[in-house]
Amino acid sequence: PPGLYIVATPIGNLGDLSPRAAEVLRGAALVLAEDKRVSARLLQHAGAAVPMRTYNDHSDAADREAVVARLGTEAIALVSDAGTPLISDPGYKLVREARAAGHEVFTIPGPCAAVAALTLAGLPTDRFLFVGFLPPKEKARADAIAEIAAIRASLIFYESGPRLGASLAALAAQLGPRDAAVARELTKLHEECVTGTLAELAARYASLSPKGEIVVVVGPPAAAAAPGPEEMDAALRQALESGE
Ligand code: SAM
Repeated sequence: PPGLYIVATPIGNLGDLSPRAAEVLRGAALVLAEDKRVSARLLQHAGAAVPMRTYNDHSDAADREAVVARLGTEAIALVSDAGTPLISDPGYKLVREARAAGHEVFTIPGPCAAVAALTLAGLPTDRFLFVGFLPPKEKARADAIAEIAAIRASLIFYESGPRLGASLAALAAQLGPRDAAVARELTKLHEECVTGTLAELAARYASLSPKGEIVVVVGPPAAAAAPGPEEMDAALRQALESGE
């Protein structure tokens, strides 16, 4: 059916392209791609000989209008260079405008580096905050970390090799002793997931700039210790004395 299709694509291993994603790409009238050269390989793998148009962070309201105008009669697919569109990638305004114009929006879910890393880290998964990329400049990065320091959830960051050491050092200094994981090159030949405390990982990567794509996962702050029997007694006594 016509509408906008949000199509997740592999984050390294082409085998992760789902049969449904391939089918949607083959059937689309147009594929919107961040980088046409990157997505050309994927379309070829999917056997999709379909026209492509660039849709990226520089796309503007007029670009979106041109797409939305076609959604009533055509199936248009949005893909990113890798993974799930809209996750640290462009697309949410297009989805919003497609909906506002009354068109159908379909999701073809699949790989997402943030979720893939979370499933490898061995850290609590019941609550997590996806933070995306930390700002590269020291002051802005410190402010961004301070803003989330008290949140009782695992934290997920996207990172690049050259910045990993500095980011881990800042996280260790500001978040204190927490368990963490550095997940790299997921689904690719050199996939690895290194776990340890933030301090250990900061030390390991202080002078090492690993190649490839990286996700950092940080566990939640240690839960405040439950009150012991003596503290409970004292609190009860105090409450009785104050007449509550
Ligand atoms: N939309 C994508 C997704 O769903 O994961 C993320 C796009 S974001 C611009 C790119 C970042 O995702 C990389 O810098 C890296 O932090 C992370 N990433 C993507 N592929 C990865 C992989 N195979 N292994 C580890 N991290 C990856």
